Amino acid sequence: MAESNMKRLAKDPVCGMSVVESPDALKASVRGTTFYFCSDACKLEYTMPSQELSKLKTMVGLGTVLTISILILTYVPILATQANAYVLLLLAIPVQFYVGSRFYRGAYHALRAKTSNMDVLVAVGTSAAFGYSALATVAPSLFGVQGLYFDAAAVIITLILAGRLLEHLTKERASDSVRKLLELRPTVAHVLKDGVGVEVPVEDLVEGDVVEVRPGERVPTDGVVTGGSSYADESLLTGESSPVRKEPGSQVIGGSINSGGRIVVKCTAVGQETVLGQITKLVEEARAGRAPIQRLADRVAEYFVPLILLVALFAAVGWGLAGGVPLATSILVFVSVVVIACPCALGIATPAALLVGTGNAAKRGILVKGGEAVEAAAHVDTVLLDKTGTITEGKQTVVAILGGDQDRILQLAGSVESASEHGIGRAIVNRAVSKGLKLAEVSNFVSSPGLGVSGAVNGQVVKVGRREFVGRNGKWGGEEQATKLMSEGNTVVFVSAGRELGAIAVGDAVKEDAVEAIREMGEMGLSVVMLTGDDEATAKSVADKVGVQNFRAGLLPADKEKEVARLQAQGKVVAMIGDGVNDAPALAKADLGLAIGSGTDVAKETGGIVLIKDRLTDAVDALRIGRATMRKIKQNLAWAFGYNIILVPVAAGLLIPLYGIGVYSFLPFFSGAAMALSSASVVGNSLLLMRYKPR
Ligand code: ADP
Ligand code: MG
Repeated sequence: MAESNMKRLAKDPVCGMSVVESPDALKASVRGTTFYFCSDACKLEYTMPSQELSKLKTMVGLGTVLTISILILTYVPILATQANAYVLLLLAIPVQFYVGSRFYRGAYHALRAKTSNMDVLVAVGTSAAFGYSALATVAPSLFGVQGLYFDAAAVIITLILAGRLLEHLTKERASDSVRKLLELRPTVAHVLKDGVGVEVPVEDLVEGDVVEVRPGERVPTDGVVTGGSSYADESLLTGESSPVRKEPGSQVIGGSINSGGRIVVKCTAVGQETVLGQITKLVEEARAGRAPIQRLADRVAEYFVPLILLVALFAAVGWGLAGGVPLATSILVFVSVVVIACPCALGIATPAALLVGTGNAAKRGILVKGGEAVEAAAHVDTVLLDKTGTITEGKQTVVAILGGDQDRILQLAGSVESASEHGIGRAIVNRAVSKGLKLAEVSNFVSSPGLGVSGAVNGQVVKVGRREFVGRNGKWGGEEQATKLMSEGNTVVFVSAGRELGAIAVGDAVKEDAVEAIREMGEMGLSVVMLTGDDEATAKSVADKVGVQNFRAGLLPADKEKEVARLQAQGKVVAMIGDGVNDAPALAKADLGLAIGSGTDVAKETGGIVLIKDRLTDAVDALRIGRATMRKIKQNLAWAFGYNIILVPVAAGLLIPLYGIGVYSFLPFFSGAAMALSSASVVGNSLLLMRYKPR
C-alpha cells in the first residue's frame, strides 16, 4: 500500500474538508467521539458555536467600518497623494491581518494537509493586492503605474466573512427544545450484579443489561420494566405532560425521569439506537450540516483554486517574458486574475438563498431546520401521509357504542383508556365522564402503539383496540353496524372483557384544506400515499373523501418505516408527513420528515420541517418553497461560476493586444468592483425569494 494511502483522513465536521489524523492535528473530543478540524475557526464553531458566532459578528462589524473608510479615501482622496496612501495602509493592515486572519490560518491548514480551499485563494489574492499596494505606498518609485488596491483586498475579506456569518445564522436554528433534549442525556447507570447496583458509565451499557432506576433518577437507556412500579415523566420526549405509569412489561425511554418508586429495567437499546440517541444524532447532523449542494461548491473549489493560481502565474510570467510587459504590469495581471476569480459570490450563493428561503417559510409558520431539509423538499417525488391527526383534525369524538350494555362497555373502556395518550383514548374517557360514569381503578396497564391498550379492572382483563388485538371470542351482534360505521370513515375499536364484547366508534373530521392540499400535490407531479394503523374500511372512506388514490391500512409504527424504506429502495425521494409517536420512525427514515405542529414532541424533533399551523396546505407550500430556493441556488451558482469563466480571461490579459498594457491601470480596480457587484447581485437575486408566494 502506498504511503499516502496509509494516512488516515478525517472529515472536518464543520467545513467538510479532509484532515490528516496526525497526533498534532487540531482535534476535539465531543462525547466520546474524536473530531478533526482544518482550522481553529472550525474547531471553535463545533465546540462553542455561540462564541464563534459573536466573534464573527465583531469581525464583520469591524471589517465593514474599516472597509467603508478605505473605499471613501480611495475614491475621494482628501489628503495629499502620499499621506492618503499611508492612511489607507494603516486602515488596511487590521483588515488584512486581524479581520482576515482566519483565511491565513485556513490556508495554512489546507496547505499542510496538501489540499486547497477557498481560504487559499482569498489569502493569496488579498495578499497580492495588499502587498503590491503596500510596496507602492512605501516605495512609489518601484512601479511606474499609479493605483492602490487596498480597497479590493478589504472588500473581499469583509464580504466573504459576511457570507460566512449568513451561513452561521442559517445553522443556528436548532430549536431550544432540542437543546433541552441533549441535556437529558444521563451519564451513569446502576447495573444490577447479584442484586447489587454497580455504577457504570452509560456508554458501557449493553443490550440485555439489567439496571435499577432509583426514584428521581433518569432512566439511563431504553428498556422494559421487569420489576417494581413507578411513574415516569416523559414530557420532553413525547409531549405527554402527566407522568406515565410504569409496571413490569412497560417500555421506558432513556432520558425520562423516574418520578415514583424504584424500578428494575432490562435494556433493549443503547447508545445511538435509543430514541434519544437518534434524535441527538439528527440534531448534531443538522448543526454541522450544510446543504449537500454547498459541499459540491466546496469540492469544485478544491480544483478551482489551484487552477486559478496556475492561470494567474502563467499569465503574469507569460506577459512578462513573451509579451515584454514591465514587472509592475505582470504583478497587476496576477492580482487581477486572483481577485476576479475570488469566488466570493460562490461562497454566499448557497447560504444567502437558504437564509431567505427559510425566512420566507418561517413567515408562513413553516419551520425549516437547515439546508438539507430545503434540498430534500425540492427533490421529493413521493409524499406519504399519516391519517389520524395529519389528514384528519385529530379531535376524535365517540359517535356510537355497540354491544349489549352500552354504559358498561363505555365505563370499562374509559377506565383502561384513562392512562392512554391516544386521541381515541381521550375521546372515550371524555364521553364516559360526560355521561357521569365512574371510572374504576386499573392495574397492569399496557399500551401497545398502533394496536390498543389493556389493563385489569376489578380483576377482569379488559382490552380496547384493534379486532385482532382484543381477540374475537365472545358474543357479538354488532358486526353489521360496525362495518357500516367504518365505511363512513369512523374508527371502530373493540372492547373485550372476558366473554363480553362490544365496540366503540370514534369519528374524526378531515381537515378543511385536506382535499385542496392533496389535489395540489397531484398537480405538482407527486405521488401521494396515505398510511394508517386504522382498518381498511375506515381508511378507504377517508381516502375517498380527500381524493387519495393509494393507501395502506393496518400498519404498525415499524410498518410505516418499512414502507418508506421500500419506496426509497425503488429510487423514490420520500417525504413523510405525520404527527404521532407512531410516525416518528417513518419521519426519521424519510428523506424529508414534515411534522404537524400540534403533534407529539418526538415527531417535531424528528421532522426536518415543522408545520406550526397544522395545515396540510402548508406542507405543499413547504415543498414549493424548497423548489424555489433550489432554483435560486442554482441560478446563483451559475452566475458566480459563469462570471469567473468570462472575466478570468479578461483579467489574464485578453485585452492587452487590443488596448495595450494601459488597461492594467484600471483592471485591478475593475476586478474588485466586478467582484463586489457579483456578490451584490447574488444577494439581490436571493432577496427576491422573500417575495415568493407559494400560492
Ligand atoms: P394512525 O396511524 O391512523 O395515526 P394509530 O397507529 O395511532 O393510528 O392506531 C392504529 C389503530 O390502533 C387505531 O385505529 C386503533 O384501532 C388502535 N389503537 C391504537 N391506540 C389505541 C387506544 N389507545 N385505544 C384503542 N385503540 C387504539
Ligand atoms: Mg397520527
